[in-house]
Formats: sequence, structure tokens, C-alpha cells
Amino acid sequence: MAASSHTSVKPRDGVSALAGRWPLLGQRQALVVYLCGIVALDLVAIAVFAALNDFRWSHLATFAALMACGAVCIEATRRLGMPAGVSRDLLSAWWLPVALLLPPLYALFSPIVLQVLLQWRVRATVLYRRVFSSAAIGLAGCAASTAFHAVVPDVSALWRGSGSTIVLAIGCAVLFTVLNTGLIAVAAHTADPDTRWREVLWDRESVMLDVVELCLGVVVAIACGINLALLVLTLPPVVLLQRSLLHAQLQAAARTDPKTGLLNAAAWQREADTEIVRARRTGETLALLIIDIDHFKRVNDTHGHLVGDQVLAGVAATLRSQLRDYDVVGRFGGEEFVVLLPGADVAEARRVAERLRTRVGRMAIPIDDALITVTISAGVAVMSLHGDDLIELLAAADLALYRAKELGRDRICLPAPPRRPRTLEPPSEEPKA
Ligand code: GH3
Ligand code: MG
Ligand code: MG
Repeated sequence: MAASSHTSVKPRDGVSALAGRWPLLGQRQALVVYLCGIVALDLVAIAVFAALNDFRWSHLATFAALMACGAVCIEATRRLGMPAGVSRDLLSAWWLPVALLLPPLYALFSPIVLQVLLQWRVRATVLYRRVFSSAAIGLAGCAASTAFHAVVPDVSALWRGSGSTIVLAIGCAVLFTVLNTGLIAVAAHTADPDTRWREVLWDRESVMLDVVELCLGVVVAIACGINLALLVLTLPPVVLLQRSLLHAQLQAAARTDPKTGLLNAAAWQREADTEIVRARRTGETLALLIIDIDHFKRVNDTHGHLVGDQVLAGVAATLRSQLRDYDVVGRFGGEEFVVLLPGADVAEARRVAERLRTRVGRMAIPIDDALITVTISAGVAVMSLHGDDLIELLAAADLALYRAKELGRDRICLPAPPRRPRTLEPPSEEPKA
């Protein structure tokens, strides 16, 4: 299941100190309202469904068994850690059966139990995110559970193999996934309105994971309905899948710069090296840009480092949005970015760099009542013309960037053409006496 991961902290005047202790207060007002609204709705749903619930010990036993499986899953993957930022897990394999097999009240409680465990045993993250994730998953599970019990009065039809009931269970599992993804996506988009809906809603990888979760959830629900003891057989494959999923996420996180989501310097260098070797082999052209935000220190000094970080993230997003999928873009360090443009010659590299400069210049980041704008300078170097390997290209682009700064910033420069050596100059003709 996707966990909320909106990381922007946007302090407003007067709340900066409080925001240190209560990070929720440092968020955009719209986000605070949205998060509080969802949590309030969750609490209302708990009160309503608690009043309607017909308590049975068998329900409690099933709930406890599924939560115990979730706890084992968390413990078994705990040592791997959890990547920062967007994280996915397979805990739906346990709370989806809760929604299908038990009254809706249990679906509201199950994410609370597992999120408390995650917070306590895996990673103590900002509390409001855990609370929001519990509420979002709880509400999605409650809706799926209510829908399933409304259309299937006798849930035992599920483990007796009724085809139509299994289809309805899949339909409710889809409802659960769509609602949860939607609730998290609205939070992510409210936290950062610049992100595109498509980015916060799906990518191919997450749709595939949703399908895996859905299948696991329905299979575990059927096994659990047949006999609670069958959960022992479902646990090892789910644990193994969860471990490999976390491993893949940790590998991706190790390549990524957490502030901007771009490649970090080491990962960029590896990818750039590969591209350069390929370009040499195929004889293709290739260009390298080093981009530096102008007077970035002033942004930090005037608005603080948190706002500076937002500007970094904004610039990174603008760069990414203006480049092709196969361009390699990374954060080189501080307020410097590097871009490798496979196939680009001098003219193309200039054009791309100019476009990036213009787009970043037009970008405005709203902070309180003000809009922050920044400009960038870039140095461009082209394979064969300015260097033959990564080190030479970086050195040439860095010199060009230095020129751009010297000439007044907010501009693109190429390395200065080499001066002709004096000895090659044609001897000036002496006037004859
Ligand atoms: P120039 O136009 O010459 O590049 O001036 P500048 O102010 O951008 O460059 P300078 O090298 O003087 O300052 C870079 C600043 O970037 C200083 C440093 O505090 C800031 N910085 C580096 N990394 C980060 C970061 O991760 N977050 C924030 N907020 N600031 C950072
Ligand atoms: Mg710099
Ligand atoms: Mg700078």
C-alpha cells in the first residue's frame, strides 16, 4: 500500500518555531485542512461503525490473526529498513481480508494497529503522516467493506468458491485501492500543486504493485475464510515478496537525491559514464550541462534553508519536466545540477540549455504572500569538441559556467575558443624602407 510522503515543509510567519515541534503546522493551509478533514471523517466513521457493530469473538479472533501476520511481516522486514519518501509495502495482503471478511469497524482499526507498529518498530516518521495514512487506508477499507457486505450478505460464499462472490471481492479490492490511492494523491498534490496528477496517481510500477496486492489480499481472504490456520501457509510468500519489494526500493533510494528526487552525484556519474562509452562506440554526439542557481545564498539568507530547499526541488522539477526521458539529470551538489544530453550537438545543447534557463526564470514559488523567482547560469560542453571523457567534459562545462557567472549570470556559455598560439600568427609585414 502506498504511504503518504509529501515532504515539503513550508513554514509560515509566526509558526516557524511551532512548526519545528509540530511539523503539520508548517504545511500549506489547504493541506492542513485536508489532512484534518480526513482524520475527522475517520474518527466519525469509527464512532458510527462502533455503534452499529455486532460484536463476535470469531471476528475478533480473525482480526487478531490477520494483524499478527501483519506484525510478523513488519518484523521480518524491519532490519532492511524503509526508504525515505514514497514507500510501498504489501500490508494490504492483511488489511484487505479484514475488509472483506469482517464488519467495516475492523477495516478502520487494522491500519491503526499496523501503522503504530511501523512507527514503533521500523521508522519513527513525522506523526501526522502516520495518522493520515491510517485514516486514508481505514476509510478506503471501510468503504470497500461496506460495499462488499452490502452486495454479499453471506461472505462464506467467498471460500465456498462462488465465482460471482470472488468477482465482487475483486471489485471491492479495486475500490479499496482506488480510494486509498486517490486520498493519498490529493494530499500529495495539495502539498505540492506543481506536481502533475499523473505523477501522483499512477506509474506503471505502482499499478503492477496494486495488482499484486489485490491478488494477495483476495487469496489470503479465501484461505483465511477456509481455515484461520491456513494463514501460516500464506505468510512466508508474502514476507518474501515484501522483502524483495523493500530491497528494490532501497536500491532506488540509494541512487536518488532525497531533496530533489533527481539522481545523486554518484549515480549520475555512473549513468553518464555509460552514456559516454556508448556515444564513443556509436560515434554519436553528446553534450553535458552544468547548471548553477544564481545567488542562491541570498534565497537562504532572506527566506531560510527550508524555503531554499523548496526552491531546489522546484528547479529540479522544472529541469526534469523540460528534458527527455533518456536525458540524464542529477544533482551534483549544493545548488548545482548536471545534465547529459545524448545525441545533442552544440546547437541542440544550446537550445535545450536556453529553454531550461527560460523555464526556470519563469518559475515562481509561492511563499506566504511573496513569489520567489530565481535564475540559473549554465556551462555547456560537447563531446569531441570540448572533451573526450567525462572528466574533460565536466572540466570544460565548469569553465564555461565560470564564464557565465563572470559575464553577469542568467546566461548560457560554452567554453572559450582556444586562443591561437602567437607562433602560428602570420608574421606582419615590415614596411619597407
Ligand atoms: P552564484 O550566483 O555565484 O552561484 O552565487 P550563490 O549564492 O548561488 O553561490 P554560493 O556558492 O555563494 O552559495 C551557494 C549556497 O547554496 C550556499 C549554501 O548554503 C547553499 N546550499 C547548498 N546546498 C543547499 C541545500 O541543500 N539546501 C539549501 N537550502 N541551501 C543549500
Ligand atoms: Mg554553486
Ligand atoms: Mg549558485
